[in-house]
Amino acid sequence: MEKKNIDWGSLGFGYMPTDKRYVSNYKNGAWDEGALVDDPMITMSECAGVLQYSQSVFEGLKAYTTEDGHIVTFRPDLNGARMEDSARRLEMPVFPKERFVEAVRQVVKANAAWVPPYGSGATLYLRPFMFGSNPVIGVKPADEYQFRIFTTPVGPYFKGGAKPIVIKVSDFDRAAPNGTGHIKAGLNYAMSLHAIVTAHNEGFAENLYPDAATRTKVEETGGANIIFIKGNKLVTSNSSSILPSITRRSLEYVAEHYLGMEVEERDIYLTELGEFEECGLCGTAAVISPVGKINDHGKEIAFSSGMEEMGPKIRKLYDTLTGIQMGRVEAPEGWIQVIE
Ligand SMILES: *Cc1c(COP(=O)(O)O)cnc(C)c1O
Repeated sequence: MEKKNIDWGSLGFGYMPTDKRYVSNYKNGAWDEGALVDDPMITMSECAGVLQYSQSVFEGLKAYTTEDGHIVTFRPDLNGARMEDSARRLEMPVFPKERFVEAVRQVVKANAAWVPPYGSGATLYLRPFMFGSNPVIGVKPADEYQFRIFTTPVGPYFKGGAKPIVIKVSDFDRAAPNGTGHIKAGLNYAMSLHAIVTAHNEGFAENLYPDAATRTKVEETGGANIIFIKGNKLVTSNSSSILPSITRRSLEYVAEHYLGMEVEERDIYLTELGEFEECGLCGTAAVISPVGKINDHGKEIAFSSGMEEMGPKIRKLYDTLTGIQMGRVEAPEGWIQVIE
């Protein structure tokens, strides 16, 4: 298969339509068999449920080329299971996780020419999503839905290495205690836009959202979970209103089983941040972005790892997980789905 003629090294994180996308429609209480299609455009009613009441959920994962030349994806079964949970919370029909994994396989295979080569730093980003498509004017769940996965090649998240960032403790809330913070709903992102634009205008890279009820505990940022290092310990929040990041859960496994670290999931108070040595944001896009400083209403918490590079423990976690993903380090059973 001949690769597309793309300067992989200079790709940004943007949308570029590829040859095929996977589409399945839900109507009269059932999903159709699904198909790969050419058309990147969607035509639907102006009154579609997604347009009126934001009934939509999504996922994000990547396909890439390993050191030995295979095209693979990373733990797509967990994305499929999480999308089931997201759908249930928004009263949408579940697209079964087994079918999700198979759809991922089909759409990556059909776009194999768009999967960046090993070593380029680029990957093929997959965006599975689902939305209510029939007219809904009285507030209720839609009766018809579309599940779709498109792919787009994206550049290395960090051009020229991951520099630590500065984030701020936000005055806005991302998620309510019994709300939708734990699912991947588009509406969570709509709510975060004003907060992120505000943070950027103030010179910060991201928002750290405290828990909405007491504003004393660390939750997460708009699109990434937060990890902390203290001695030989990896500490993360166990809040029920954060999104269960697959990267974070994988890093916890790596910390415990590959690096001999202790893992602690617990309440993390803003008042104890100064006791941590390293901090990072984790998610599919960047794996880990190191955090150098957290600004809590003018009070600066500076981690001893500094503003020049990743701290040593986070660097180890990053190297091991990306090593597993790229086939340089042996993966735990079931983590790597080989497409071809
Ligand atoms: C997608 C997402 C993450 C990261 O999850 P991964 O599965 O690691 O990509 C973290 N927080 C939020 C709010 C998200 O939407």
